[in-house]
Amino acid sequence: MTFKAEYIWIDGTAPTAKLRSKTKILADGAELPLWGFDGSSTNQAQGDASDCVLMPVFSCPDPIRGGSDLLVLCEVLNTDMTPHPSNTRAELTEAGQRFASQEPIFGIEQEYTFFDGDRPLGFPVGGFPAPQGGYYCGVGVDEIHGRDVVEAHLDNCLKAGLGISGINAEVMPGQWEFQVGPLPPVEVADQLWIARWLLYRTAEDFGVSATLDPKPVKGDWNGAGAHTNFSTKVMREGPEGYEAIITACESLGEGSKPLDHVKNYGAGIDDRLTGQHETAPWNEYSYGVSDRGASVRIPWQVEKDGKGYIEDRRPNANVDPYVVTRLMVDTCCSALEK
Ligand code: ADP
Ligand code: MN
Ligand code: MN
Ligand code: MN
Ligand code: MN
Repeated sequence: MTFKAEYIWIDGTAPTAKLRSKTKILADGAELPLWGFDGSSTNQAQGDASDCVLMPVFSCPDPIRGGSDLLVLCEVLNTDMTPHPSNTRAELTEAGQRFASQEPIFGIEQEYTFFDGDRPLGFPVGGFPAPQGGYYCGVGVDEIHGRDVVEAHLDNCLKAGLGISGINAEVMPGQWEFQVGPLPPVEVADQLWIARWLLYRTAEDFGVSATLDPKPVKGDWNGAGAHTNFSTKVMREGPEGYEAIITACESLGEGSKPLDHVKNYGAGIDDRLTGQHETAPWNEYSYGVSDRGASVRIPWQVEKDGKGYIEDRRPNANVDPYVVTRLMVDTCCSALEK
């Protein structure tokens, strides 16, 4: 007998990479082999040297096909087995190992927007719905658009065994969020990429599309982010927890760090980080307790307990989770090491 392995990888589309996948039939019990693809069709190679290599790095049950079928996340390699330039996971793996003793973990809040053709789901043809206010965590057909898709996606993530920790309707109609984690850096990023693939794939069956566009509607409508929650063992457990939390917040504001981070937090970040709609301006770093207008928020409970985690509110919905987790681990764990 055989099973189907859906090999999933991240392509070279600029400025924001896309997910690609194709199916391999394998004999029951077979190990997941290296595979290849035509890199000239994914912005990853020239036509005269088009072969790229797929190296399986994470697999889970395929909740759509069921049975013993698998989803297989891959790193892209060159034919000499070195990481392809589009492969941001390889660098995170190194950083993760370097700081593993601090036990960093992340929870990422993935916001996204459903589209029905060229308008957000719930937007009337040729116009706009009622202004924002009632949609966030709403209930009822006047406020909620796409819940059937969201529920199917949640069930698929759970069947796949992903560490998804919740979902909610967002501030703009047709906009939703799911959270992955808390998990170590490589794990949270791998699982977020699979959860994104499952989002697109699930929505396909409902005839809607999902986008990570950080500002899908210009004007007085919230953008879509990927708030990235972070802690190390010391931050979580104390007794120096709060001191470590402040060290982490300060480290993110030092020297060139604010810009180094923001310019790698997803294409179009200055359209979203305007200082409006629960954001801080992209060119001004700040942190504060309970402050949803700051770059980095310390939840009130964390201040009260004197330990816990911080929330970097800047990453766009279209951020590469391998990049944001690497930058945060590099910046914060280096500072905490001292
Ligand atoms: P909010 O919408 O209020 O910002 P959410 O509940 O959507 O918050 O997301 C909070 C995220 O923080 C979740 O993904 C959760 O897994 C994560 N989280 C909780 N505790 C920690 C921790 N100690 N370290 C890192 N992430 C954490
Ligand atoms: Mn072919
Ligand atoms: Mn949230
Ligand atoms: Mn949100
Ligand atoms: Mn948040």
